[in-house]
Amino acid sequence: MFDQIAQSVAYQKLNLDSPVTVTVKRLDQIHPQISGNKFFKLKYNFLKAQQQGLNKVLTFGGAYSNHIAATAYAAHLFGFKSIGIIRGEELAISPLNSTLATAQQFGMQLHFVSREQYRQKDRPEYITELKKQFPDYFLIPEGGTNPLAIQGCKEILTAEDRKNYDVICCGVGTGGTIAGIIEASTAHQSILGFSALKGDFLRRDIQQWTSKKNWQMTDAYCCGGYAKTTPELLHFMQSFEAEYNIPLEQVYTAKMMIGVFDLIEQNYFPKDTRILVIHTGGLQGRLPRQDQS
Ligand SMILES: *Cc1c(COP(=O)(O)O)cnc(C)c1O
Repeated sequence: MFDQIAQSVAYQKLNLDSPVTVTVKRLDQIHPQISGNKFFKLKYNFLKAQQQGLNKVLTFGGAYSNHIAATAYAAHLFGFKSIGIIRGEELAISPLNSTLATAQQFGMQLHFVSREQYRQKDRPEYITELKKQFPDYFLIPEGGTNPLAIQGCKEILTAEDRKNYDVICCGVGTGGTIAGIIEASTAHQSILGFSALKGDFLRRDIQQWTSKKNWQMTDAYCCGGYAKTTPELLHFMQSFEAEYNIPLEQVYTAKMMIGVFDLIEQNYFPKDTRILVIHTGGLQGRLPRQDQS
C-alpha cells in the first residue's frame, strides 16, 4: 500500500556560512496528505490491520493533529473506514477547523470526548471498552506510536544517510519517530531530538523503545510547551522560509530548526560535522490558519 504511493524526497543543503553542513531531508514531500513521519508511522499499522482482515481503524488526536489528518487520508485511499476520537467536547458544537473538516471529508467519523475522558486513552479499561464498542476496528494509539510505527520509522534513514551524516536531528512529540531513527542509526552517528513539549518523561518513553545510547534530547526550544509559540519562533519560521524556500510549521519543525541554528551558533557541533535534519512534515497545521479556533 504505502510503498506504491511514496514520492521521492529531496535533500536540500542549506547555504550557510558555517564550519558545519546542514542538509534537510524533505519527508514533507513523501506524500501530499500522508505527510512526513506519519507516513512511516502508519505504514505497518495499516498492513497489520489488513493482515488481520480488518479494514477499519480507530485512533486519537487533538483538533489540529497531523496524525488524524494522515490517518483519515490513508484510510480513504486504502478503502478503510476510520474513527477519530478527538480531544475536546466543545468542538462538537463549533464549526470544524480545516484539519477536522478535511478528515471528515475523507470519511473519518469524529467522536468528540472531554479532556478528562481523552486522558484515559492509554488505560487498559478504556481500550477494552473501546474494543467492545468498536469490535472490528484496528486501534492505533495517539500520535500513532507503537512497535509497528517504530518499525516504519527505521526506514526514514537509508543506507546513504547512515554513511553521509554524523548527526541526525528530528522533532519529538511522543518519541516514536526518534526511536525508529535511533534504532536505524550506526554507532558513529548521534541523534538529537528537539522536543515540542516540556518535560523529562519523554526520555523514559524513548528508552522504552530503544536500548541504544547514541542520542540526546532537549526541550530547550519548546517555547513553553506543546503547540505554544513565541514571536521569535514565528519570526524565525518566516525568515527561514524566505531564505531557504522550505516551509516549516510551528508545532515541531520550526522548534527543531531554531534549535539546530542556535546550537550551530553556540559552536556545539565540531567543525565539519555533517548534520541531517529530518523535515517531518505536518504542514497542514501551519500558521497562519484561516480558521483559528
Ligand atoms: C507527529 C509529528 C512529530 C512527532 O513525532 P513523534 O513520533 O510523536 O515523536 C514531529 N513532527 C511532525 C511534523 C509531526 O506531525
